[in-house]
Amino acid sequence: MVYKATIMKHTPFAEPIYVTRPALPSLDRFTNQLREVWESRWLTNSGAQHQALEEKLTTLLKTPGLSLFNNGTIALVTAIQSLRLSGEVITTPFTFPATPHVLAWNGINPIFCDIDPVTMNIDASKIEEMITPKTTGILAVHVFGTPCDVGQIQNIADMYGLKVVYDAAHAFMVEVDSKGIGCFGDITMFSFHATKLFHTAEGGALTYNDKNLKNRIDLLKNFGIKNESEVMMPGINGKMNEIQAALGILMLDELEKERSLRKQLFKVYKTHLDGIEGISLLPPSKADVDSFQYFPIRIDAKKFGLSRDDVYEKFKAFNVFTRKYFFPLCSQYACYRQLASASPQNLPNANKVVKEVLCMPFYGDLATCDVEKICSILVSMKAN
Ligand SMILES: *Cc1c(COP(=O)(O)O)cnc(C)c1O
Repeated sequence: MVYKATIMKHTPFAEPIYVTRPALPSLDRFTNQLREVWESRWLTNSGAQHQALEEKLTTLLKTPGLSLFNNGTIALVTAIQSLRLSGEVITTPFTFPATPHVLAWNGINPIFCDIDPVTMNIDASKIEEMITPKTTGILAVHVFGTPCDVGQIQNIADMYGLKVVYDAAHAFMVEVDSKGIGCFGDITMFSFHATKLFHTAEGGALTYNDKNLKNRIDLLKNFGIKNESEVMMPGINGKMNEIQAALGILMLDELEKERSLRKQLFKVYKTHLDGIEGISLLPPSKADVDSFQYFPIRIDAKKFGLSRDDVYEKFKAFNVFTRKYFFPLCSQYACYRQLASASPQNLPNANKVVKEVLCMPFYGDLATCDVEKICSILVSMKAN
C-alpha cells in the first residue's frame, strides 16, 4: 500500500525519542523478586535465580545447552576460547564492535568477508575464497535478526574442518525450520544488554548442541575453578549475578507484550514507508519467528533526494535520534583497517550498505501516533 504524503509543518517532539527504550517489570514485582535474593544471601555463583533463568531460557530458545553470562561480549570471548580457535577467523565487517574485538582478545586476526547486499549478513558464497591454512573458524552475525545462510555456512565449515560461531545478539527467539536459532553452528551468543528485546540490564548467554561443551564453558566463565583444590584452565569472570537473573526472570513475563506492541508498530512503519521512492525496508526473511529487535530502513540518496546522513541530521532537529547501525564498518576502525581483508575493494557491498542503513525508533512504549508522525516527518523531508 502506498501512503499518500500529506505535507505539513511538524513541530519537534517535546521529549527526545531514541532508537530504543528498555521495557521493565513494575518496581513492585522486582522488589518482590529481590526479596528472595536478600533472604537467600546468595548474590552470585549460580544461585537459585541463575538456575531458574537458565532453565527457562533453555526451553524458550529451544536449545540443548545454555550458559548464562554477565554480558554478551564476555560470552563471545569465552565461546572462542572454548573451541580453541586460533590464527584467522572469517567474519563480517557489518556488525557491532564486539564481534571482531572478541577475536582480537583471543589473539586471532579477523578476516573480513563481504556481505550479501540484501540480507546484509555475511555472504556465504564469498567465505570459501577467504580461507587460508591459518583459518580455524567462521564468526557470523544474524544482522537485524535475519538468519544467516546457516546451511551453506555449515557445508563450508564441514568441508574445511572449521568451527562456526554465531552472534545472535539481534535474533532472540528467531527460529529457522522450527529450530531455535541457537541450534546452528557450534556455539551461538545472545546479548541481554538493556537495548536488546530481552534484557537483564547487562547479560548474555551461549547456546550449543554439544552438551559436553557446558562443562568447559562453565569452567571458563568461573576462572577455570573445578573445585577447592583444582584450577583447570585460564578462565575469566563471566558469571551472571542473582540480581541480573532476577530481572531476567521477570522480563520473560514482559516478553509477549513487548513483542506484540512492536509487531503493531512494525505494521505502522510498513504501512507508511512501503513504496516511498528511495526508502526500502528489510525484506521478509526465512525466519519462522521475527526478532522485532530493530526497524532498519535503507535510504537510496539518489532516489530519495537526501542521503542517510542528511536524514539522520534532520531528524535530530525534531528531537528524534535514529542510529546509523553499523557505521563505521569494523573494517574502517583504526585497529583493523590495515588488514588486507579490510580494503574497500574486498568489501564493496558492505561499503555501500553502511551509507544507507538507518535504524528508526522502535520499542513497545512508543505510541502509534508518534510512529505516524516520524514517518510523516521523513516523507516531508523528501518533498522539501
Ligand atoms: C549488543 C551486541 C553485542 C554485545 O553484547 P553485550 O551484551 O552488550 O556485550 C554483540 N554483537 C552485536 C551484534 C550486538 O548488537
